[in-house]
Amino acid sequence: MKKETLLMAACVECEAEFDIDEPEVGEIVSCPECGLEMEIVSVRPLELEAVVEEEEEEEEAEEEEDWNE
Ligand SMILES: [Zn+2]
Repeated sequence: MKKETLLMAACVECEAEFDIDEPEVGEIVSCPECGLEMEIVSVRPLELEAVVEEEEEEEEAEEEEDWNE
């Protein structure tokens, strides 16, 4: 008997659809279109979450203004 374990996933970034063979929670998959890495956070239903790489890129260039008075 043929076991169908392919699930259709959609990239959270570019919305490209691709199949994941035997998805497992915690597995990292990458989008064939844009290469974004996503972690499988849920299988049924299939949910993906973009993997955020810990880069030293603190781009919080928001100017702190003292308006709290
Ligand atoms: Zn993508």
